[in-house]
Amino acid sequence: MNLRRLGKTNLMVSEIGFGGEWLERHEEAESINLIHHAQAQGINIIDCWMPDPKSRDIIGKGIAGSRDKWFVQGHIGSTWQGGQYVRSRDMAFVKPAFEDLLARIGGGYIDLGMIHYVDSFEEWDVCMNGEFIDYVHELHRKGIIRHIGLSTHNPLVAQRAAKTDFIEMILFSVNPAFDMRPASENLDDMFGEYDKGLSGIDPDRAALYQLCEERDVGITVMKGFFGGALFDPNRSPFGVTFTPAQCIHYALTRPAVCSILCGYDTVEQIDQAVAYETASDDERDYASVIAGAPLHAYKGQCTYCGHCKPCPMNIDIAMVNKFYDLAIQQSAVPESVRAHYEALDVTASACIGCQSCEERCPFGVEIATRMEKAAELFGR
Ligand code: SF4
Ligand code: SF4
Repeated sequence: MNLRRLGKTNLMVSEIGFGGEWLERHEEAESINLIHHAQAQGINIIDCWMPDPKSRDIIGKGIAGSRDKWFVQGHIGSTWQGGQYVRSRDMAFVKPAFEDLLARIGGGYIDLGMIHYVDSFEEWDVCMNGEFIDYVHELHRKGIIRHIGLSTHNPLVAQRAAKTDFIEMILFSVNPAFDMRPASENLDDMFGEYDKGLSGIDPDRAALYQLCEERDVGITVMKGFFGGALFDPNRSPFGVTFTPAQCIHYALTRPAVCSILCGYDTVEQIDQAVAYETASDDERDYASVIAGAPLHAYKGQCTYCGHCKPCPMNIDIAMVNKFYDLAIQQSAVPESVRAHYEALDVTASACIGCQSCEERCPFGVEIATRMEKAAELFGR
């Protein structure tokens, strides 16, 4: 299992992770077995946004004896009221719900203390002014939560979080369909009908990925399969289906993304996700699927898919494009981006303009021209 550094938290997380929300669908022993199986495959990060005692107990029991081998994303503001999930900032509910989480997960700490589900600026204001955020900081100061994160589906809220000096990572919804949909404060809109077609990556989402990379804010991914719709020809907004490996690869090739947290009902599903680790380039290739889809307009934009390899000069075209895109968002090239660029074995100036890569790019990116511009911008 490949590990990735989760931004400034410095935690080394498995690139395939575990979203825990389906665990409560099964008998406790069966779900605990899923966690054990995942751990045996090298998965080491699990999200627990769920406030219900059953899910929390399953995770606590599943990782008992291996607490230090797991990174738990535990949510603050996800409460259980009258047998129902309620998102709340009311401390009368928030504190007991978090204490319950802590007790059921075990070990006396939560690795990633997530400010739960902030999808609007009104909600942001409520969270960030007053007792709620004071509580989060207090938990952090005491070492009860080791790092502060935030979960959101809204790229504008996520951008605001990434700009703070205390939110170290973000749980964000990433899949090709969401990326081509404008931001919304209403999650239902994002799962709604894509009746106007898809129109290229949403600039707010592209800017978020770049901002996170620049500020070293790691992203963990939820809803990477678009609720399964990308597997279903009748529901996929692209008019074609994707495989799990293609969706995983899409998420893991966004800048700043460190881990995709998939939901599992069976050990076979875990094996299928983990099979990504040994999948061939063809099996991971989401780019051809998007490019060949009847409903898309991703033209001219680099998706960092790597489909244009190999370059006779050994240029890592996707990486050069990524750093170039990051750099041109700013008035001056950020030092961190320049350092990453300079660490490349071969830089854009090695390009001989053969354009053989362009024949392989499914999105019609003018690669040779971009290499020239990147070489000029970075000075090598
Ligand atoms: S055009 Fe440049 S980047 Fe593309 S394959 Fe040729 S040398 Fe490599
Ligand atoms: S240039 Fe084209 S093929 Fe190469 S990484 Fe970008 S989108 Fe993919």
